[in-house]
Amino acid sequence: MSTTDDDLKAFHWLMDMLQTVDVGLLVLDREYKVQLWNSFMENHSGIPAYKAKEQSLFDLFPEVQEDWFRHKTRSVFLLKNRTFTTWEQRPFLFRFRNYRPITGTEDFMYQNITISPLLSAAGDVDFICVLVYDVTDIASHRKQLMNANARLAQLSRTDRLTGLFNRGYWEEMLAREFLRFKRSQSPSTLVMFDIDHFKKVNDTYGHQAGDEVIRQVSAALTETTRATDICGRYGGEEFGVILPDTTGEKGLIFAERLRQRVEGLVVEHGGQTICFTISLGLAEASPDFPGHADWIEAADQALYHSKENGRNRSTLQRPPSPAG
Ligand code: GH3
Ligand code: MG
Ligand code: MG
Repeated sequence: MSTTDDDLKAFHWLMDMLQTVDVGLLVLDREYKVQLWNSFMENHSGIPAYKAKEQSLFDLFPEVQEDWFRHKTRSVFLLKNRTFTTWEQRPFLFRFRNYRPITGTEDFMYQNITISPLLSAAGDVDFICVLVYDVTDIASHRKQLMNANARLAQLSRTDRLTGLFNRGYWEEMLAREFLRFKRSQSPSTLVMFDIDHFKKVNDTYGHQAGDEVIRQVSAALTETTRATDICGRYGGEEFGVILPDTTGEKGLIFAERLRQRVEGLVVEHGGQTICFTISLGLAEASPDFPGHADWIEAADQALYHSKENGRNRSTLQRPPSPAG
């Protein structure tokens, strides 16, 4: 057999293989006109190879951004480099529908793309080869995993009963806010509060009613605070609120508004009406505090003062007056 026959035979084998692989393959010339198009491309685009031949890629697929694709392939033509894009950078090059049954949740096929130079015998690049890998399964699983992780992270910092931050996460935020305060010295106020005589609520109306009271207090809290305030459930019926960029005096106005709002709440449970109050303690952040725990301690002392002095009130902890 002559060399040409061998070459031809090899070419046919190659074409057969390229037709059957589950990878899209197209060859483009310097004008981005299609020279070759395998059955993967036919099946997914619905355009037979004979119709695609000599057509501009940009006419066939208006979704391919021409500027971007020309820029991307410049180094393939000029420097004979290979180039890639992954589905994370760009979900797809060609908008093909997704037919895979297990990833039926995705509307289109996610693609990884490889673009390689095809060197002539003289070493020139007259054609480039684009390979299209269907990575819908990988992309879909990765996205599901990322969503699940985000959901888990959200659950791990949320209190189930109230939807507020739980104690662990809230304290982390308080520690962070304390560091921010130390750097910037812009004021910050901490409010701790506790429902008054809550044991009596449980004893009189039952634990379920108690839970409903806790829920309603946290709803009132959420409605009273700004988006930048940080609310947490610190313990059973104790709550903490961080008011960034707020002086103690301003914090006191907030505390009184919340206190009055809770005082006006009427919780209906099992045909009975429950009224209750809260006591609050406030402390402005001080550079004298060694750490955020001392800040909590100061607000807690103020809360204790409110309890000792008749409950249903707010107390702002005054910083210790300078000696002398
Ligand atoms: P004070 O005015 O001094 O705060 O009196 P108090 O009765 O509220 O006393 P304290 O704060 O010590 O009471 C807390 C009670 O809250 C004890 C506990 O049984 C109850 N509790 C804690 N967590 C929950 C909860 O998630 N649901 C319900 N229903 N009750 C809870
Ligand atoms: Mg209490
Ligand atoms: Mg308590």
